[in-house]
Amino acid sequence: MDINALQPEEIKNILEKENIKGYRASQIFNWLHKQLVTDFSKMTNISKDEREKISQIFEIVIPNIIKKQKSKDGTKKYLVEFEGSADQVETVLIKNTSKRNTVCVSTQVGCPLACKICATGSMGFRRDLTADEIIAQVELVYRENDGIENIVFMGMGEPLLNYKNLLRAIDIINHPKGLNIGARKITISTAGIPQKIEKLINYPKQVRLAVSLNSAIQKKRKEIMPIAKKYPLHQLIPAIREYIKQTGRRVTLEYVLIKDFNDQEEDVEALWELLSEMNININLIPLNPAPNSLYRPSSLKIQEWFQQQLHGNGINTYLRKSRGYEIKAACGQLAND
Ligand code: SAH
Repeated sequence: MDINALQPEEIKNILEKENIKGYRASQIFNWLHKQLVTDFSKMTNISKDEREKISQIFEIVIPNIIKKQKSKDGTKKYLVEFEGSADQVETVLIKNTSKRNTVCVSTQVGCPLACKICATGSMGFRRDLTADEIIAQVELVYRENDGIENIVFMGMGEPLLNYKNLLRAIDIINHPKGLNIGARKITISTAGIPQKIEKLINYPKQVRLAVSLNSAIQKKRKEIMPIAKKYPLHQLIPAIREYIKQTGRRVTLEYVLIKDFNDQEEDVEALWELLSEMNININLIPLNPAPNSLYRPSSLKIQEWFQQQLHGNGINTYLRKSRGYEIKAACGQLAND
């Protein structure tokens, strides 16, 4: 059984069934999630015999770095494989201007949503990552970079389609006896699955939610995001409003700016109308064009104009600088190539 995603009490229950002292569970949990050790033989406060027995009950999911790239702005991209599986995912470390580390984590191998602007979308879908594999990415990047302050689930895949494993992973990452990364430092980004957004209302941790809006006009949105056909804006927006109302938390909307597509006067007006009286802020992201794509980023002038229009109407907007572009580590570029 894989041990990375088990809570201390779960480890304890299993150990006791095997006649191993229950207190070993918290020692093991500490080695795994605080010391970030990936080998039972290094857990030196446990007797050799017991370690032997424990390693027969549990397996540790070990992430191996297949390739590591670093861009000029300090962004690092890791191509990661998990021992025992041939599947690979990408995990990105972003250093922001205040030198804080953010890790961008994948939740699926590939992605089933096939967004037209996103390189992962053109890979197709292979499988969900296990909770153990999600945790392993975070801990790998933590070890490699002397810590992490923020976690964003914006890597490969749609986190809310791997709901159970996602939350199980967050429960470990956030555990006070583990890395103890605050729930408010963890952002789940979704293409917009209304039922899952509503379900997340009942998750007791104060994680942040981001929704990839990309257009306030249904016809345009479904052109680049096929999932919008299944879950149109008139279902998605009420779910987000409900989430905000019930949790009292502001939601971030991501809006990729695409030249002559969603950067016009009518797009601004549609946003004003759709988002009126909503406790949101918008992250504007200039498009990172995928190879062979017809879509282009809006010019800098238009980006700034767009931001101003939203500001003028009281919508908090942040124009995000793309990071890691030349190593294909930026938004929408993760494709294991
Ligand atoms: N499936 C999740 C998480 C992955 S996408 C989601 O959809 O939110 C993370 C972000 O990258 C999304 O906001 C998406 O709109 C953005 N993105 C996708 N392709 C992009 C591209 N080519 N350039 C810039 N941002 C892109």
